[in-house]
Amino acid sequence: MIDASVVGSLDLVLKELGKVTERDYIAAYERRLQSFMAQMTATNVDAAVLTFGAEVPWLIGYEPMPLERVTALVLRHNEAPVLLVPEIEAPRVRTRGDLFELLPWREGADPFELLERRLQGAREIVVSDRGWSAWTLTLMERLDPSTRFQRASLLSTPIRRKKDDVEMLTLAAAAAAADEVALLLQGGEIRFRGRTERDLSDEIGRRLVAFGHRHMNFAIVGSGPNSASPHHEASDRTMESGDFVVCDFGGTFCVNDEPGYCSDTTRTFSIGEPLVESRELFEVLYRSQETVRRDLRPGMTLEAADQLARSVIDEGGFGDYFIHRLGHGIGLEEHEEPYLAPGVSGTLEAGDAFSIEPGIYLSGRLGARIEDIAVATEDGVISLNTSPRTLTVVD
Ligand code: ZN
Ligand code: ZN
Repeated sequence: MIDASVVGSLDLVLKELGKVTERDYIAAYERRLQSFMAQMTATNVDAAVLTFGAEVPWLIGYEPMPLERVTALVLRHNEAPVLLVPEIEAPRVRTRGDLFELLPWREGADPFELLERRLQGAREIVVSDRGWSAWTLTLMERLDPSTRFQRASLLSTPIRRKKDDVEMLTLAAAAAAADEVALLLQGGEIRFRGRTERDLSDEIGRRLVAFGHRHMNFAIVGSGPNSASPHHEASDRTMESGDFVVCDFGGTFCVNDEPGYCSDTTRTFSIGEPLVESRELFEVLYRSQETVRRDLRPGMTLEAADQLARSVIDEGGFGDYFIHRLGHGIGLEEHEEPYLAPGVSGTLEAGDAFSIEPGIYLSGRLGARIEDIAVATEDGVISLNTSPRTLTVVD
């Protein structure tokens, strides 16, 4: 289980992660491969052809480049996993003992012929949800017409959702690095007034990298009326007195040269003192996010989790203006299972990592959002983001 006392400190989290050895990582990949194979057995799947998306990095620590040349991890019962890669990619594959067999294919060869050979006799095959449909269509043409294809996420999602200790710590490192940027925004070291949204967004991206992210994934800056657009693209609008500014940013954080885990946090700012009604709106939002952090427990349904936030916003009179779900899972991907939303089935479980991000948006006028990444443990929910969530009044 994650040690809550290190959460919030980038130094302490990185120190913990520094103790994780190559042997620990290989053991984790072995466990994941075993549990994926067990899922294949349980669902009568004969083979998996995993290409792009989170499965290959999660199972063997290799991140394929999503290019046109065929890369695939092929899993069959009673055979070693095989990673088929273009020869030019082979030098960047870490082979990790005998975790898998590396099979480079030479330019000019037909990688589908190699795949066909590996898939002989397979009747039920799963393929990556995020793979190219062109490759799946080629396999459909080449293999026996009775072969059935399904999405690999049916097998991987239930097991990939449950984060192990190292995954949680890596998410905590990503969150702490994003918090460092939030603190600079809150402390006045990063300016708002007189700058364009795009200029501020660029700086947030640079700062995310400076605090250890491998790359930034997004940096939403929505000011004034743009704050009411949840996924606003930073524009040339110059920020001025009286604006609410929603900053929602995240990147990918890698530790020990392993695949990266994502950060995603939102803080809201007011340039100069806000109007009374704007402050009231923010207070309702704050109570909503705080209620979730305090009351959410594993075992609650995902719908009930969303409702925790929604009921506070409803009571505050802004129910019609909370126009998205409460949160999404996070890990190797910015958005993954579970989704904390109306109409979703399932419960929150220990091991889940997810966002808590209620928002209120008065279209064309003003909006606000607060977002933390949290993990569920047997005992409750720990927020990995710890920077102040209050409305920060900046110059
Ligand atoms: Zn976000
Ligand atoms: Zn989010």
